[in-house]
Amino acid sequence: MNKVNKMIILGDSARYDLCNYGNYNTDNFLSGKLPGIYNATAGNGVCIPLFKVIMTNKCSNDCRYCVNHGGNQFNRVEFTPEELTSIFLDYYNTRLVEGLFLSSGIPKDVDVSMENMVEVARKLRMDHEYNGYIHLKILPGTSYDLLKRAMSLADRVSVNIEAATPDGLEELSTTKTFNNDIIRRMKWIKRLRKKDENLAPSGQSTQFIIGATNETDTDILKCANWLVKKLDINRSYFSPFNSMKNTPLENHCEPHPKRTSRLYQADHLIQSYGFSLDELVFEEDGNMKLDMDPKYSAALKKDMFPVEINSASYKELLRVPGIGKISARRIIESRKINFTFKTMEDLKKIGVNIGRAEIFVKLQSSYQKTF
Ligand code: SF4
Repeated sequence: MNKVNKMIILGDSARYDLCNYGNYNTDNFLSGKLPGIYNATAGNGVCIPLFKVIMTNKCSNDCRYCVNHGGNQFNRVEFTPEELTSIFLDYYNTRLVEGLFLSSGIPKDVDVSMENMVEVARKLRMDHEYNGYIHLKILPGTSYDLLKRAMSLADRVSVNIEAATPDGLEELSTTKTFNNDIIRRMKWIKRLRKKDENLAPSGQSTQFIIGATNETDTDILKCANWLVKKLDINRSYFSPFNSMKNTPLENHCEPHPKRTSRLYQADHLIQSYGFSLDELVFEEDGNMKLDMDPKYSAALKKDMFPVEINSASYKELLRVPGIGKISARRIIESRKINFTFKTMEDLKKIGVNIGRAEIFVKLQSSYQKTF
C-alpha cells in the first residue's frame, strides 16, 4: 500500500486522541486531501496545526471501544520510522503542520512499538535537526529506559488512563492494567522530570474516555484531581466515548454531548479557581447536572451569597458566576485605589457578566438590577 493510502487510514485512527480541549478538527482529513492534520489550541489560545497519526493499526490488545482491537479482522497497515519521518517532513517543510503527535497500536511487544515511535523522534531531532513540537504517547507497559529515551526527545508525553478506576479499566480491556501499565509509568515520568527538567519539558497529560463505563463524574473528577496533585499531570482530556462498528461496545450508548463540557468546566474550577470537589454539586447518581454549568450550580447551593462586592475576598469573588479571574483581580485592584462599586454598570465595565452575577452580589449592601 502506498504512503498516501496508509496516511488516510492511520491519520484517521488518531482522531480520538485529544491533544487540546474539545477541539479536534477533521475538516482537512475529510477533504480527502490532507490526512493527519488536526488543529490543536495552545495554552495561549493560538491554533496550531499538528500532524497526528498512529504508526500502525496492528494491535494485539483488546480494548473494547477500539476498532483496532486484536479480534477485529481487516487489513492492517504500518509505517516504518523512515516513511513516517519523511511524510512528516513533507508536511512540515511546506508549513502544513507545526508539530507532531504520535501514537501506535501494539502488534506484539510493547517496547518494539514504542521503539519505532522513538526512532521517528530521534530521526527528526538528530538526522534532520528538527526543533519543533513533538508529543509522544507512552504506550501502556513501556519499559523504563525506553520511556526515558522518549522523554529526552519529546516536548510532551502522555499515558492514556482511559478509566478513572482499576475496575473501570478492567471493563474496557483485559490486556492493560491500571496500576502497573499506566499509573506506574506516570510515576516514572514524574520522577524523571524532577531529576532532569529537559525531559519532556512541557510535562505529561492524559486522557479519559467518558461514558464507556458506568464511572460517574465524581469518579472521574476525583481521579483527575488526584493525578494533578500526586503525579504532576498538567492536563486531563475528556474524550467522549464513540460507539464504533465492529467493536464489542458498538451498541453501548454514547454520553450526552454536554457531559464532557461539564467535566472540563468542573476540572477548570478545581485546577484554576481553587474549588474543592466538595463545593461542586453532584446528583444522587454521582453525575453533575447537564442543564446548568457547575459554577452556577455550586453558587445556588452555597449560603455565602449574596457577597458584597466592595468587601468580598478574591476567593469569594471567584465563586460568583459571571466573575472570572481577570475581573476578580480588577475588582480588588480598583478597591485598593478606593474605588467603590455602586452600580452593575461599574461591574460590567471591568468585564463582569452581570446577567449571571446579578442575583449573587450586593453593592453597598443592596441588590442592584442590571436594567
Ligand atoms: S492499545 Fe487498545 S486503544 Fe490502542 S490501538 Fe490497541 S486496542 Fe486500540
